[in-house]
Amino acid sequence: MSDVADISPEAGAALIQWFQAHRRNLPWRERYDPYQVLVAEFMGQQTQMDRVVAYFRRFVERFPDVESLARAHEEDVLKLWEGLGYYARARRLHAAAKAIADQGGGRVPDTLEGLLALPGVGPYTAAAVASQAFNIAAPALDANAERVLARLLDLDAPVKRAAGRKALEAAVRRITPEGAARELNQALMELGALVCRSFNSECGSCPVRDHCKSLKAHTVDMRPIPLKKPATIRINMVTGVLLRRGRVYVQKRREDDVWPGLWEFPGGVIEAGETEEQALSREFFEEVELRVRPVEKITKIQYSYTRYRVTLNAWRVEELDPGREPVLHEATQLRFVSPSELAALAFPSGHRRLVDTLDRTAPAWWCGA
Ligand code: SF4
Repeated sequence: MSDVADISPEAGAALIQWFQAHRRNLPWRERYDPYQVLVAEFMGQQTQMDRVVAYFRRFVERFPDVESLARAHEEDVLKLWEGLGYYARARRLHAAAKAIADQGGGRVPDTLEGLLALPGVGPYTAAAVASQAFNIAAPALDANAERVLARLLDLDAPVKRAAGRKALEAAVRRITPEGAARELNQALMELGALVCRSFNSECGSCPVRDHCKSLKAHTVDMRPIPLKKPATIRINMVTGVLLRRGRVYVQKRREDDVWPGLWEFPGGVIEAGETEEQALSREFFEEVELRVRPVEKITKIQYSYTRYRVTLNAWRVEELDPGREPVLHEATQLRFVSPSELAALAFPSGHRRLVDTLDRTAPAWWCGA
């Protein structure tokens, strides 16, 4: 186990110097406006910052401050988030904005405790916002910072376990120059993103190579020590596109399910021994009490979320009892909309790709809808 006292405070100064010369021009770094930092941090959870930028710009253009976001309809917030994934983040950010508007007069809390009291804000987000927006000395350890520090210390404990975390936080405190938490925290995260990467780290051009114990011990590729990954689960699903008098049936997902509040086409998991067609007919009846017949395979889409690898088989279906009213069992709302109106609704990524496929391939039954 590495001794934190071995790490020199000079490493902090070197990191900051490097950050000032090499940092990316991310839009929320222009002013470190607390609301913008909060939005960026929610968006950046489990997503690379380069990918966040376009979403961030659109989001703050539409919702320029806490009040405008707090007043927004959830559906509009989810729509702007579409494609970024992990929609629970959008809902938590929305809830946090409402709490700030209600209790804080629209001002993002400027203490660690105040930030932690917001709905959906955990220790990492609170520390990241506190340090960037208010320059508060709070270690903000994302996966990039964890990797850099674990290598600097040659840490032989998993960074997610209490002992490992304690060592990393102590190291951050030791190397943070007085009044420089904002720069130091970001320097660690930025170095992890650009130089000290998971694979192929560029140790030769690293500003803290002289302080790096893993480099000396030849253990760079072994740090951080991984936690055992949960096994990947493969799921085979089916979904159906039903048109009635040129309008497409869509339904809104329940609040207590995955992707709450997003729109979808009916469908579900193909059970053992079922064909795609049998599963689809069963799912339609169970979910909306409509009897349908799958008539044409549209496409097969593969995507991942958390530890699931999903194969989504999409079909066009026809009604066996035309005009029968749907009865909702697995959704909170239904609509029959024109294909062009689907662009305004937020879908999970698999269903959004299905809509894009239909728009791109433009089958006659879709175009003539
Ligand atoms: S020397 Fe290499 S392993 Fe060590 S911090 Fe720098 S990039 Fe990471």
